[in-house]
Amino acid sequence: MFNKYSDGYCPQCLLEDYEIPLIVNNMDFWECPVCRFQCHSCTFSVLSIMRERGEGLLKEIQATFWINKFTLSRGDKNSITDSDGSIFKDEAELRDFLLNDVK
Ligand SMILES: [Zn+2]
Repeated sequence: MFNKYSDGYCPQCLLEDYEIPLIVNNMDFWECPVCRFQCHSCTFSVLSIMRERGEGLLKEIQATFWINKFTLSRGDKNSITDSDGSIFKDEAELRDFLLNDVK
């Protein structure tokens, strides 16, 4: 199920109807323990989806406490922690980005 906002669950796993809370990793990014999706809260309301997956080195802090209605955005091509400013309008755009731009 697509939602252009994140409440701290992995957006990629939500597309398959799995609610997996994101967890802080060793780089202090949010990471999914299942698919290794990574994102970064670049402002207090925007979560940028990073173009590379994490390595599974997770701490114990879950995002569901900290992330509430953050807008999902594409990660910048030239900076791993910044957003490129674009948001996802629908599920097709999110699926396309995850398939073609996230390694
Ligand atoms: Zn996931």
